[in-house]
Amino acid sequence: MGLRVLVTAGGPGPVPEHRGPNSAAYKSYREETTFRPAVVCSACYLTLDNRVGVAEIGGQTFNLAGSSRGDRARAMTEPQYREWQRKEAERLGLNDAG
Ligand SMILES: [Zn+2]
Repeated sequence: MGLRVLVTAGGPGPVPEHRGPNSAAYKSYREETTFRPAVVCSACYLTLDNRVGVAEIGGQTFNLAGSSRGDRARAMTEPQYREWQRKEAERLGLNDAG
């Protein structure tokens, strides 16, 4: 079953205020830390929903948005989850063979 969450790949970065807003580093920081909607399975959610909301999944560090922590992720229904999987497969250019 899937859970809708907001995550950012890249993990916690430096505090933005400590960098110039026009610096390349800040821009890439902003890009890396923009929370995007994602769907994770229950197991991954449990991994992410820790005290700091940061965990490594599949070799990549993810940061779970505060609004998705503490068991507040929105559970998807089975049809919603299938629909998401279908769209995700399309987005990645996969076919339905698998
Ligand atoms: Zn998972």
